[in-house]
Formats: sequence, structure tokens, C-alpha cells
Amino acid sequence: MEPESVKRFREYLRIKTVHPKPEYWECADFLVAQAKEIGVEHQIIEPVKGKPIVVLKLAGSDPSLKSILLNSHTDVVPVYEEKWNYPPFGAERVLMDNGEYHIYARGAQDMKVTGSCYLEALREIKASGKQLLRNVYAMFVPDEEIGGEDGMGAFVKTQEFKDMNGGFDIDEGGPSPNTTTYSFSEERTLCWVKFTARGNTGHGSQFIEATAIEKILPVIYKLMEIRDESVAELSKFGEAKALQQGHFTSVNLTKLEGGKQANVVPAEYVATFDIRITPDVDCHEFYTMLENLAKENDVELEYIKRGLVNVITDLPDTDPFMIAFNDACKRQGINRVPMIMPGITDARYIREAGIPAIGINPMFNHKLLAHDHDEHIIESEYLRAIKFYVDMIESMGSVSSS
Ligand SMILES: [Zn+2]
Repeated sequence: MEPESVKRFREYLRIKTVHPKPEYWECADFLVAQAKEIGVEHQIIEPVKGKPIVVLKLAGSDPSLKSILLNSHTDVVPVYEEKWNYPPFGAERVLMDNGEYHIYARGAQDMKVTGSCYLEALREIKASGKQLLRNVYAMFVPDEEIGGEDGMGAFVKTQEFKDMNGGFDIDEGGPSPNTTTYSFSEERTLCWVKFTARGNTGHGSQFIEATAIEKILPVIYKLMEIRDESVAELSKFGEAKALQQGHFTSVNLTKLEGGKQANVVPAEYVATFDIRITPDVDCHEFYTMLENLAKENDVELEYIKRGLVNVITDLPDTDPFMIAFNDACKRQGINRVPMIMPGITDARYIREAGIPAIGINPMFNHKLLAHDHDEHIIESEYLRAIKFYVDMIESMGSVSSS
């Protein structure tokens, strides 16, 4: 017998909230219908047209206390359908040889499973008749996969978000390949930077001085050197490399543009980098270094996008929220190991708004398939994760001080 919670999860998976044209309103309709069935209030906020945010509220008995936020994104990344063994938006439930059911769909791991767990946990708590002390809000936001500016980035600036009076946010994590659960309270800071060099031009047969290329090369060399250092340090960790990534600043030269013809010395050359600054270094010092590098080489610098703070949640274990969080983990058999998020998530907007946020996904023994073909989850782990969230939400929602 297929559990009802699995049926609902599969329904959510079938909504094509896939870039570049996500069906956000179909998704909002589904979430509103869920809110009505569960019997909780809901709100649709649309800070950017066509990009609705749906918020469900499990009302607490003391609304003056800071609330607990549960964040998830509704959008998913595109698929290479021909590489899939199951239709990516079919949400097929497949019985495997080991007796486990797998659910195949884009978004099964990243991160509709978490959104579904929030819905199922609210449903269970509401049905039990229990009222928690604090308001709990489950947030379903668009656009995380394309940077989140029009999703969580816009949402945190609204009055509706401020009115939620968030005190702690539970956010995106990833399933574990084993039985250790990795949680994320830090992320690297994103920096997309463009260097433009201008110089003398002329015939390709001449010894022209102060060319654009001459100016841009030292900038490229310096940044490649930082990349090499990170690669060398990281390689010392061998197998554990992936877990340590966040401690190192990554540098990638993503665009190199300029030149018109083989025999013309280019008047302008542009190099664009994707840099992720580790929270172990001060991002402002890093920016100063970049700016000096540009100045020394007579190159113009432009930030396409950059984070302005090292986004860290650093609550002591004695903090009442942390006690509640850790207790719930313990009760649910979760051995939590904190790690720096290698990528970026919407949690950074929430941390920037001054609210502590921890990313977690309690599912064990999964092949990590976010953004990959044949993305799927193990049904029994999904069912276990719902229990985790019920306990977690009840625990966090009952914290009386803080
Ligand atoms: Zn995600």
C-alpha cells in the first residue's frame, strides 16, 4: 500500500517547476490546496511578478515569540530527458530488488522532498491537536536554482517577511551517502568579478607596448595561483576532499573575451571569474586584494555579483534553539556533523537578514543526485525524514526562552 504522504509527494514532483519556464502558479495552487487540507493559514506573497512565494503558518499559542522558519525552494534545474531511465516529471514509484521503493523525479532530492516533509510534518502536528508555543512558517520560494534574487532575495526585504519575526530557520541540506548527517551553518561568499583591460593597439607584426593583454595576464596569473593553492591544500584531504571544499576559496576563469582579428593587437580584453570565498577568510580583505590587483595592473574591476558578508550561523551549543535542535537530532538518531556548504543556498539571504539558519536533510544512504540524471529518493528514508521534522518542529516550536 502506498502511503498517502508518498502520493502527495509524487503529486508535488509532477508539477513542472523546471527552469527556464517553471510552472510557479500550478505549484502555488498545489500548496494552497495542501494548506486548506491540513487546516493551516496560508499567504501568497509576490514581491516579483510571476514568482509567487507560498507561506503556510502553524499558529503558536504565543505569537509574540520569535517564530521558527522552514525554508524550501520549489524550482528545479533542467533535465537531459534522454539520459533518464524514468520520465523526470513522472514521479514513478519503483520497487527495487532489495524491497525498497525508489521515487524518481527531478527535484526528488533537490529539494521537493524537504518541502514535502514540511507539509507532512505540519499535517501530522495539526492533526494531533497539539498547539506549539511559537508560530511555525513553512516557506516555499521560487528561483533558488538561478540565484534567488527574485525569490528569497526579494522576500526578505518585504514587510510580510519581517512580520513573520523569524528567530531560527531550518533550511536546505543534502541527503547523506552514509549514516552521518551533514548540516550547514556556513557558506562560501559568492563573487563574480569582471576585469577589463584597455591598451594600445596596432598591427600584429609590431612590438606594441602596454597592450590590454599585457595588463590582463598578471591578473589572470595571480588568480590562477590562488586556485592552485586551494587545489594543492584540498588534495591533502584525499577521499574526504568533497567534505572540506568549503574551507577553500574556489576560483574559476569563466569568460575570456577580446580580439577582433589575428593580426590586430586587441584594444580591450575582458576576463570574468567565478570566485567562492571561504568563510575562513574575511571577504572584505579578499575584495581589497582584488581591487589592488586591478589597480596595480591598470585594469578596471567590476563586480557582477558579490556577497558582502561572510554568512555564518555561529550559535553556541548552550543557545536554547541549538539545544532543541540538537536534542531532536539525537532522539531521531541523527549524528550531525557541521560542514561548510560547498555551493550557495537561499539560507544566505536569511542569515544576512540576521536570522540564524541551519541546512539539513536527514535522509541516509543516498546516491547524491541533485542536478543529475535519474534523481531519486528512497521511500523509507522519506518516511523517516517526516518523523524527524515532526520532532524537530515540535522541539523548536516549544522553546520558551530566546
Ligand atoms: Zn536546492
